[in-house]
Amino acid sequence: MLFGRIADAAAELQAEAYVIGGFVRDKLIGRPSGDADIVCVGNAIELAHKVAGFFSPKPTVSFFKNFGTAHIRIPDTGAESGILDVEFVGARKESYRSSSRKPEVISGSLEDDQNRRDFTINALAISLNKENYGQIIDPFNGLKDISEKRIQTPLDPLSTFSDDPLRMLRAIRFASQLGFHIEPATFDAITEDAPRIRIVSQERITEEFNKIICAPKPSIGFDLLLKAGLLNIIFPKMADLEGAEYIDGHGHKDNFYHTLQVLDNISLKTNDLWLRWAAILHDIGKPATKKFEKGHGWTFHGHEVVGGRMVPKIFDQFKNPLNEKMRFVRKMVELHLRPISLTKENITDSAIRRLLFDAGEDIDSLMMLCEADITSRNKLKVKKYLENFELVRSRLAEVEEKDRIRNWQPPVTGEMIMEIFGIKPSRQVGDLKNIIREAILDGEIENSYEAAYRFMMEKAAAMHLNPVK
Ligand code: ATP
Repeated sequence: MLFGRIADAAAELQAEAYVIGGFVRDKLIGRPSGDADIVCVGNAIELAHKVAGFFSPKPTVSFFKNFGTAHIRIPDTGAESGILDVEFVGARKESYRSSSRKPEVISGSLEDDQNRRDFTINALAISLNKENYGQIIDPFNGLKDISEKRIQTPLDPLSTFSDDPLRMLRAIRFASQLGFHIEPATFDAITEDAPRIRIVSQERITEEFNKIICAPKPSIGFDLLLKAGLLNIIFPKMADLEGAEYIDGHGHKDNFYHTLQVLDNISLKTNDLWLRWAAILHDIGKPATKKFEKGHGWTFHGHEVVGGRMVPKIFDQFKNPLNEKMRFVRKMVELHLRPISLTKENITDSAIRRLLFDAGEDIDSLMMLCEADITSRNKLKVKKYLENFELVRSRLAEVEEKDRIRNWQPPVTGEMIMEIFGIKPSRQVGDLKNIIREAILDGEIENSYEAAYRFMMEKAAAMHLNPVK
């Protein structure tokens, strides 16, 4: 319906219109498509207004006169959100000069517009013109590349990437999202042009990077980033995880490939970007803590603490939010060894309570991360470890039901303490709160107001504190 209306509008304006790019690619692949881009050989803003006029109620047309672009949103039952964003752009020709990263843009033909696209699979257009409505215009064999799951540039790859180095990350992002391979000459050009990624803004890099993380199998993208020499530029700390060192015949596992496996494992269970980030960063402190201890082998003592401390800096570098998302990832990194320590025998309730207290409402995410962290090739071992975690889960559930430590709130608050003893905010208030919390976590007293109150009165007396009433 939309496309028919665009065709009518274009015919009335004696302009040409085509749907182009990602929308066409995704429709052909059979994947949910995002926004629809319409290229107009003619005035794109006029076209958008005319198309909008065919709908009732008439959608608002937002437009940028300087760029000759316009945008409308229309209801669409096929779209995930029920709304389709339609972007109208005049056909353009772009030329890059080596002295500047910004292309010179002038109006052009459909062919010019297809020439400036990054990949053959992104250069496909479908005609919305009366004489050949619905015809696919495919100057670079994009259809063949879709059927053979191949990513390649329409024109010379080296200059394509050099002109806009973000395209290197886009190639890898599409390979990960679609499960396509990058054609060898295109990949060689990425490897050669990799250092030019430095001229791209961090925001654009992060957008692609986070899309790679959200792909169904993110390891595809990270492996390519490493092999192309891009990872050591955009995320050197992660590239540092690669490799295994040997001393006296003892090697350690390659932490980069281990991390990728953990990331793939967790991606089978969750689409949450931040939990996936936690998988990427869980061992990030290993290179900095690595030691070879004679008679013992390789150790990474304290890597979870060192790794946790690295999280804010990495988030800052990526311009990821420095809010509760960052704190969540840090917490996951810091706690990722704790559930393993609970798989040993004779674990006390108090150890379980402490984990529930420290992880709070993120305990399920933490357990998911720990299970993903099992990457042994020995199937029997994996089975045994998973069973151990099942036991930890049931102990957690048991203790939680009894003591309600998850999302723990102190049964006696600081305000209550100040009121009962008639004291001002002071160290004594903090001390009393801590003593009560520790007693509850240790299982010395029940997690209830009555028990906490009684216990506090005893401790306060020893501190020569008397209630005012
Ligand atoms: P997605 O919606 O998943 O991001 P997409 O291919 O639709 O994928 P957009 O960024 O919306 O990506 O771009 C739309 C189209 O514009 C692409 O299909 C491609 O033809 C073209 N394009 C986008 N970015 C570039 C670029 N850096 N260089 C050349 N062409 C590009």
